[in-house]
Amino acid sequence: MSQTTSQPTPPAIPPALAHARADFPILQRSVHGKPLVYLDNAASTQKPQVVIDAVTRYYANENANIHRGVHLLSTEATGAYETARGKIATFINAADDSEIVYTRGATESVNLVAHSFVEPKLQAGDEILISAMEHHANIVPWQLLCERVGAKLKVIPVTDDCDLDLTHFDELLNEKTKLLSLVYVSNAIGTVNDIAPLLAKAKAKGIPTLVDAAQAIQHMPIDVQQLGCDFLVASGHKIYGPTGIGILYGRRSLLDGMRPYQGGGDMIAHVAFEGSTFKEPPSRFEAGTPHIEGAIGLGAAVDYLSGIGLQAIHDYESDLIAYAVAKLQQIEGLTIVGNPRLRSGAISFTMGDAHPHDIGTVLDTEGVAIRSGHHCCEPLMKRLGVPATARASFSLYNTPADVDALAAALKKTAILFM
Ligand code: PLP
Repeated sequence: MSQTTSQPTPPAIPPALAHARADFPILQRSVHGKPLVYLDNAASTQKPQVVIDAVTRYYANENANIHRGVHLLSTEATGAYETARGKIATFINAADDSEIVYTRGATESVNLVAHSFVEPKLQAGDEILISAMEHHANIVPWQLLCERVGAKLKVIPVTDDCDLDLTHFDELLNEKTKLLSLVYVSNAIGTVNDIAPLLAKAKAKGIPTLVDAAQAIQHMPIDVQQLGCDFLVASGHKIYGPTGIGILYGRRSLLDGMRPYQGGGDMIAHVAFEGSTFKEPPSRFEAGTPHIEGAIGLGAAVDYLSGIGLQAIHDYESDLIAYAVAKLQQIEGLTIVGNPRLRSGAISFTMGDAHPHDIGTVLDTEGVAIRSGHHCCEPLMKRLGVPATARASFSLYNTPADVDALAAALKKTAILFM
């Protein structure tokens, strides 16, 4: 731990974000008699009033099933659901709205690709390449698939600083590789991976790619065409939208060739006992009544983010995280876990022998909400030599005052445990 004595300079909140806090009603509440300092954004973000209003408006004015009724409410609900799809497509610069499939979240999106895209092509001895930095959502679906088929899961290691160790990348990415699936931003450490060159190498070898953008899409502009990925997954609840809704971006030419994920209503062209035929993407992958208000709320969240501008959010959050790192480095006995070249969203730390759950519990009594545990990244924790960490994760509504409150609460925690 480096001990600096000079006080770091807090970043200024830019005009684009000056009113952000006021947009989130929950930030006005208190916790244990203290003002809420919400720093568990990587787990789930709070919702701005415009998202809450969009969901409420749907139930108050438009509630009906979609793609089915000829009555006005159904037409309006269908319109709102599909309009939201278009907003999300624009948000990540998909070539066409039909490249956005609604799912329950990033986890279901990965499972969909595993089941509908990779499994039919995978044979015993084939390989799927991921990294040691992945969330369990980008590990376990591939393990299950490899077990079913007799394929192998290969892993790009990480360095002590928690960057990808690309020393043997060119050998790991070989003719047996049937998919390269990588996390863009680590939820546990905050590492931002420079994935574009890796995706380009895969493309040059004809290997399809998936990007887990669950912790990236809310922190930086994403252009799927520029990135050159074939699939990209994200969760609505981590980008200021409702829970239970997420997206799978898939290149249309690939979606066209994929089998359905689940069977049921709304995904079929015709059903007969002799056999059924299926709709075009994305409907083919959206069986049954979907999370209509979730999609509409996610559309409102995307509008909200676009209104502020992802570049402005990225620049401010980068300054805020640098400030937080500098403040945390000054706390006696605190060790920041991982020192990646580029960081976004999260800072993980330990304090001597104090259990991260105990750190989290003490911080909670001070009104500061963080996450403690393995962050659904058990293999990464093992690699970094810690069973668990405490994690503060940031979003567009966090301020230097939140960082100061975190640092003050951690100093109290240090007195208790050190
Ligand atoms: N990938 C990453 C990097 C995550 O951080 C998470 C959730 O924390 C997921 C995938 C899974 O997201 P969800 O649980 O919303 O499906």
